[in-house]
Amino acid sequence: MTAELIDGKAFAEGLRARIATAVPAFKAKTGRVPGLTVVLVGEDPASNVYVRSKGKATVAAGMESGEHRLPESTTQEELLALIHRLNKDDSVDGILVQLPLPRQIDEHAVLAAIDPDKDVDGFHVVNVGRLGVGERFLVPCTPLGSLMLLKDRLGDLSGMNAVVIGRSNIVGKPMAQLLLQESCTVTIAHSRTRNLPDVVRQADIVVAAVGRPEMVKGDWLKPGATVIDVGINRVPAETEGKTRIVGDVDTASAMSHVAAITPVPGGVGPMTIAVLLRNTLVAAHVRAGMAPPEGL
Ligand code: NAD
Repeated sequence: MTAELIDGKAFAEGLRARIATAVPAFKAKTGRVPGLTVVLVGEDPASNVYVRSKGKATVAAGMESGEHRLPESTTQEELLALIHRLNKDDSVDGILVQLPLPRQIDEHAVLAAIDPDKDVDGFHVVNVGRLGVGERFLVPCTPLGSLMLLKDRLGDLSGMNAVVIGRSNIVGKPMAQLLLQESCTVTIAHSRTRNLPDVVRQADIVVAAVGRPEMVKGDWLKPGATVIDVGINRVPAETEGKTRIVGDVDTASAMSHVAAITPVPGGVGPMTIAVLLRNTLVAAHVRAGMAPPEGL
C-alpha cells in the first residue's frame, strides 16, 4: 500500500476562493469589507515572512489589510495601548499579534487584552472556553485547518480513535477539543507519555504537533491510518550549507503503512493562513450581527 498525499495547498486555495466570494456579499450588506490587522514587534526574520504573507493573502481575498511594525524596544504599555486602539476601531474585525514577542513583553497580558470577538488567532481564554463548550467561533487556525483536511478526506469521524501528539495551547490542545467535538475517542500524547509507539499504533487518526524532525516512524502507525503532520522543522540538506523543511513524521517510512498523510511542505502549512481569513470573515459577520456564510 502506498499512501495518498493530502493536498493541503489545493484545499487551502479552494477555501480562499470561497472566502473571496463571500467578501462582496458582506460589502453589499454592510458597506465595508472585513479588515485584518497584524501587529509585529521586532525583527524576527521568520515572523517577518509570516506577516508579509498574511498581508498578501488578506488583500488577495478582497479584505482590508492593516500592519503595525513596532521596534524591538517596544514596551508592554505601548503595545497594550495599540491593542486598545485597534479594539475600538470599527474597521478592524481581526487583530493578530505575531508571536513570539520580545522578552520585556508578557505574552499572556497581550493576548488577554485583545477583544475576544476580534481574536482571529483564537488564543484568548474566552475563545479557548468557547471551544471547550463546543462553540466553533474563532478557533486556532492550524488545528481547524487540520480538521478540515481530515473531514474532507474521511467524512464522519465519529467513533474513530485519534491520537494527538503534543499538548501546546496553539495546536495540540485545541486539536484534541475539535476531534472530541467530532465524537472521536481522543488521546493526547506528550513528552512524558510512556510507550508512545504503542499509543500511536491504536490510532485511526494521528496528528503530530511536536517539533521533532521525523520522530514518528512508519512502524508506529496502524495500517490504513490517516496522518496529519503539523511539524515544521528545518534540517540540514544534502547540499552543504543548505537546509530543507521536514515534518514530525518520517514520511518515507509512513508511506507504506498509512492510507493518507499530509506532506511537509504543502500539507497543513497552507491551511493556517486560509483559516486566518476564515476567522476574519466570521468575526466580521458576527460583529455586524450577521450569520457567517455556510460551510466555513
Ligand atoms: P510546542 O513546542 O509548543 O509543543 C510541542 C509539544 O510536543 C509539547 O506539548 C510536548 O509535550 C510535545 N513533545 C515534545 N517532545 C516530545 C516527545 N519526544 N514525544 C512526545 N511529545 C513530545 O510546539 P507547537 O507550537 O505545538 O508546534 C509543534 C510543531 O508544529 C512545530 O514543529 C511547529 O513549528 C509546528 N507548527 C506548524 C504550524 C503550521 O502552520 N503548519 C503552526 C504551528 C506550529
